[in-house]
Amino acid sequence: MSEERCCVCGATGDLNLCSGCQSVYYCGAECQAKDWPNHKVFCKKRQKEIAQQMAQAQAPQTVAWTAVTPKHAAPSSSAESSTAATRASMIIGLVQT
Ligand SMILES: [Zn+2]
Ligand SMILES: [Zn+2]
Repeated sequence: MSEERCCVCGATGDLNLCSGCQSVYYCGAECQAKDWPNHKVFCKKRQKEIAQQMAQAQAPQTVAWTAVTPKHAAPSSSAESSTAATRASMIIGLVQT
């Protein structure tokens, strides 16, 4: 099942995933240090892609909830909609902070 190999020496077994990009494996710190001058360009690019993907995944959700949230939450009109509004503002607060 595990087909992972150290991307420097090809060793299998006890490997560490690059903590920066989570894309390549190393058998140890020695191989990671050896490969770093070559890998850092890819690693930083990949980190940026991961950050962008996460931002994109969060963005539409925030917009949808903002559109749904009423400007003035009426407390006594409908229990169902006020619960939804409270939940929405809680989620917005979490995303924005
Ligand atoms: Zn290695
Ligand atoms: Zn990396």
